[in-house]
Amino acid sequence: MRHLIISDIHANLFALQAVLTDCEGTYDDVWFLGDVVGYGPHPNECVEQLGDLNCLAIAGNHDWATLGRLDAGSFNPDARHVLLWTQSVLSKGNMQVLDELEVSTAAEEHFTLVHGSPRHPIWEYILHPQVAQANFDHFATRYCLVGHTHDPVIFDEGDGNESICEARLPAFNGGPQVLPDSRLIINPGSVGQPRDGDPRASYGILDTDSLTFEPRRAPYPVAQTQALMEQFGFPARLIIRLAFGR
Ligand code: ZN
Repeated sequence: MRHLIISDIHANLFALQAVLTDCEGTYDDVWFLGDVVGYGPHPNECVEQLGDLNCLAIAGNHDWATLGRLDAGSFNPDARHVLLWTQSVLSKGNMQVLDELEVSTAAEEHFTLVHGSPRHPIWEYILHPQVAQANFDHFATRYCLVGHTHDPVIFDEGDGNESICEARLPAFNGGPQVLPDSRLIINPGSVGQPRDGDPRASYGILDTDSLTFEPRRAPYPVAQTQALMEQFGFPARLIIRLAFGR
């Protein structure tokens, strides 16, 4: 099976559509790693598009905050601004969709899906190999798929004994890469708000038959998303960052 792996859409419909167009016909189903809302101008549209994809999906911290399960005070003022706006515009039906998302799930035989980390699925950021290393004990499968950092990376446990966990940066649009035998934590980056310096939407195609992962980027009309954010009075910093992928 070929799975489209997406995370952190963050209500950026133009970015999501660009990804779906870019990889059309190259996947069998979709695995989504959380945060469909927050930061962006299209929360209802993105929840509905996700529903149309009929994907395996889990909840992220912005999804939980929108439901009121996390204190809005724990978000920075920019994120909080859009969180409150999202709560005011999201339809009851779409709230219900968020409410039904699990915090983690297993997929096929070898995969665990969480938003942040297997140790703390909603909140923990796996940005460094040391944090990744500590998390390998917290999932039973061979591979774990995470999002949350908006930073595409693969953490490789090595042989799990003396070797040290390594971070590998993906080679984008370089074709499918064969996964090593070791256990991995794989982050496809963010569809709607990349933070690795590349503004293009980030995602991956995981083929669980050939055990390959293909990291991919899709350009989208950033200015169109920014124009809507401006129209809705979103904080300038959130609007500007999309152009830089930071
Ligand atoms: Zn996010």
